[in-house]
Amino acid sequence: MKCLGKRRGQAAAFLPLCWLFLKILQPGHSHLYNNRYAGDKVIRFIPKTEEEAYALKKISYQLKVDLWQPSSISYVSEGTVTDVHIPQNGSRALLAFLQEASIQYKVLIEDLQKALEKGSSLHTQRNRRSLSGYNYEVYHSLEEIQNWMHHLNKTHSGLIHMFSIGRSYEGRSLFILKLGRRSRLKRAVWIDCGIHAREWIGPAFCQWFVKEALLTYKSDPTMRKMLNHLYFYIMPVFNVDGYHFSWTNDRFWRKTRSRNSRFRCRGVDANRNWKVKWCDEGASMHPCDDTYCGPFPESEPEVKAVANFLRKHRKHIRAYLSFHAYAQMLLYPYSYKYATIPNFSCVESAAYKAVNALQSVYGVRYRYGPASTTLYVSSGSSMDWAYKNGIPYAFAFELRDTGYFGFLLPEMLIKPTCTETMLAVKNITMHLLKKCP
Ligand SMILES: [Zn+2]
Repeated sequence: MKCLGKRRGQAAAFLPLCWLFLKILQPGHSHLYNNRYAGDKVIRFIPKTEEEAYALKKISYQLKVDLWQPSSISYVSEGTVTDVHIPQNGSRALLAFLQEASIQYKVLIEDLQKALEKGSSLHTQRNRRSLSGYNYEVYHSLEEIQNWMHHLNKTHSGLIHMFSIGRSYEGRSLFILKLGRRSRLKRAVWIDCGIHAREWIGPAFCQWFVKEALLTYKSDPTMRKMLNHLYFYIMPVFNVDGYHFSWTNDRFWRKTRSRNSRFRCRGVDANRNWKVKWCDEGASMHPCDDTYCGPFPESEPEVKAVANFLRKHRKHIRAYLSFHAYAQMLLYPYSYKYATIPNFSCVESAAYKAVNALQSVYGVRYRYGPASTTLYVSSGSSMDWAYKNGIPYAFAFELRDTGYFGFLLPEMLIKPTCTETMLAVKNITMHLLKKCP
């Protein structure tokens, strides 16, 4: 930026403008999210007994903590790794309670505001406008992601076709990228990211996947095979309203943004809103809860749009992959019950190979298995719905990490996380191209 012009007089005249521009790029003293997380903490506890679990549930409810893991307080029992975000005004009470009750705990994040600003380039100057030099190692706003999609649609028309499958509650387009060499009668893989708004690494991975596909199509035989034999339907941001809200108002927002007629709380858990054992175990009927299942199945326009699309194309879609964070897990059905899926051996071996491939890059270990036993029982999930509707390979990834940064995975970890995850996805894709039902 040429803030100091050739002639001093000219420069002086432009200084206020330059100053304003710099202020926009580098807010400097101003804080992200109006400093609303200053002094907040993230605390981990693992109850040793059911009595401890009960006491912790009670205090968490009273103090209205923001639960990071598991997704609902009802899941907390003996041995459950529980991470809570506690606002500054409640942290003293929580810590006093834990000490008095002699419950072991660990402060994962001492000051959430500082952690948030440290791991982010949001408040520093960065090249966000240029699309040719699009930076895949930073988190992008919804507007940036949608501009990027439009740009790719224009510049890579041979491999990419972009379309919308409907509109969100707040009226935003629900864009999909269809990726693959054009051909009739091809099978397909569905990939969605960002069902839960605050899990920013998800959309970052979806973008990374598209970048890798375009960059390596010519040089990597595996990628060429994938794109020649399959279409990939990629939805980089599923919950567009929630994602936008997590950028503008509340970094830790999870749900959609729909209004409720009887309660002031907004939003539905878009991963509890599917018509598969809807609103049963592991989902809440209360609109203020983070796992609220909604007033009826597919009440959320985003869920309905994707369900309609998958219903329409289910004969061709062989795999459904959904990206979440955080836990480092690769999950497959069932989520809503403890039972073995009919094609267990095929799915299990795909998962086994995928996590091994992932681990081979940086040694990062993923647990894998049926969601019900590996994570917890939850009803109305997209993965179970996809499987029940005839998509034989349905997986949900819980990406990095295991709680050190939690939802605030620093941008410097986008590249390693996406690099290792790419291998897992390629493995699953190649597996389904082989003869396994
Ligand atoms: Zn999630």
